[in-house]
Amino acid sequence: MKSVKSLLLIVATTVALASVATVKALNFGADTEKDELLKQLTSEPISIPTPTDFERWPEPVYVYSGGTNTASTADATGHMVDGVKVIYYKTLVWGDVVADFSDFKAKVAETLNDSRGWVRAGLKFVEVSSGQDVNVILSDPASLGITAGCSSELSCTTWANQVIINDVRWREGTDASRAGGMSARDYQHMVVNHEMGHWLGHYSHIEGCDAGGPAPIMLQQSTGLRGCDSFNAWPLDFELWTLR
Ligand SMILES: [Zn+2]
Repeated sequence: MKSVKSLLLIVATTVALASVATVKALNFGADTEKDELLKQLTSEPISIPTPTDFERWPEPVYVYSGGTNTASTADATGHMVDGVKVIYYKTLVWGDVVADFSDFKAKVAETLNDSRGWVRAGLKFVEVSSGQDVNVILSDPASLGITAGCSSELSCTTWANQVIINDVRWREGTDASRAGGMSARDYQHMVVNHEMGHWLGHYSHIEGCDAGGPAPIMLQQSTGLRGCDSFNAWPLDFELWTLR
């Protein structure tokens, strides 16, 4: 595992400039630009609601760790079955985790295919042991801390197809989620949907609510509600689009 992490850091260093360029290129400023990009990326476009005013495509708020994946190659990993895009994922462990891995695997599968989740955007998630599009990783904080672009405090998604869930947050949530009365299970739903949302193409965070209501899934609820009325573990209607 150490060699994999070392490689990741080396890759991160060597392609950092390229990654920054890619992220900037994807930080589309107008809907027309976004539509053009989506046409290129989706062979079978799904219905994409117009983002509301408060999703303004701000500058990316975190840095990707490098790796070889870019959005322009993402579509090559897509698999349409009966009109549904199948996302193949693999679950992994990094470091010394406390959470039960079997329980983690079962709960991730439950969240990803829940009828309230990203399946509403025309996706289906299938767990595999090889040939995956994306890795869903249960990680101890120390391993997250040495992953470029991530921190030991929270969970993280990297440009190298890694949706990384922090073992401590998985078990305990955050100060904000606990204070707000979010259940441990809802926090788990939220963090899996949020991080998978980044991988699906929601690269930036939504920074607030225009008129109260539940927090969008792509708002960083781990650190607070930013003017929204309530915690929410599932993508809202206007968030039901994907670049995958
Ligand atoms: Zn995030």
